[in-house]
Amino acid sequence: MAELIDGAAVAAEIREAVARDVAGMAVPPGLATVLVGDDPASAIYVARKRRACVEAGMRDLHHHLPGDVSQEELAGVVAGLAADPEVTGILLQLPLPAHLDPKPVLELIPPAKDVDGLTIRSAGRLALGEPGLRPCTPAGVMALLDAYEVPIAGVDAVVVGRSNLVGRPMAQMLLERDATVTSCHKGTADLRSETRRADILVVAAGVPGLIGRDDVKPGVTVIDVGIHRTPDGIVGDVDFAAVEPVASRITPVPGGVGPMTIAMLMRNTVDATRLADELATEVAG
Ligand code: NAD
Repeated sequence: MAELIDGAAVAAEIREAVARDVAGMAVPPGLATVLVGDDPASAIYVARKRRACVEAGMRDLHHHLPGDVSQEELAGVVAGLAADPEVTGILLQLPLPAHLDPKPVLELIPPAKDVDGLTIRSAGRLALGEPGLRPCTPAGVMALLDAYEVPIAGVDAVVVGRSNLVGRPMAQMLLERDATVTSCHKGTADLRSETRRADILVVAAGVPGLIGRDDVKPGVTVIDVGIHRTPDGIVGDVDFAAVEPVASRITPVPGGVGPMTIAMLMRNTVDATRLADELATEVAG
């Protein structure tokens, strides 16, 4: 029987720690969420982030723009937030309506305000091992591994998936902590032979039940990032019932990685204020 990695409990602890940090700050951080249009799922995600921000004692600086806003108007709003000292973090909710190109708008977000960690400059800082704000979902996976004192340095870590949102930064964050990392993806010739070597297996492929009993080594720590709504409820990329008996630790879905993403967004929003000072010193030095 594997130990269950309780993401809801770890996320609650992180959010409490963030609230304590905020209470000790002279000026609370200000998170500017930018929502374009009325996509119902995006509206729900942004509402959750804003609520978490307020619960942590931070300033909620929300901007809701009409769905027909022009590229130039959106760029103007984000550039304004980038220059505004009241705003310490900027989150552009994706996807944007089809007529808008997110890339040039994202790049207007300075690294010290990039609380989602998804801009090219933040990705570059991660790739080069420089301090910076890391993408929230893989940062949440690292926080789970640390909360359960899972050894990282020297172990074989296998990441399935290489999206810019999860898999690619995940592999880099494990590498930064001295794991021996294998990145798997759609082009991997023999996925099973890779995943069976893993001491830590992170699965972010977006394929329900991709990983079964024969895909893992006994004693592995399994982190399932996948989320799929099915008639039988929410499931992940790992066949939990098959893998749980042979793993040493495993995340449930739901209640594993899911709650960590917003908790890490809150952590990043506090860390952004510190990073701003650090980066200013770097530039000055
Ligand atoms: P994506 O579709 O952008 O990327 C999937 C990656 O998996 C690709 O790199 C692809 O090459 C790889 N892949 C797909 N099928 C594969 C296969 N059969 N074998 C090996 N590799 C394969 O998805 P994403 O945005 O990275 O999300 C992945 C999953 O994680 C989804 O289920 C998504 O809903 C979930 N997710 C959860 C959270 C969270 O907060 N828990 C956050 C983001 C994404």
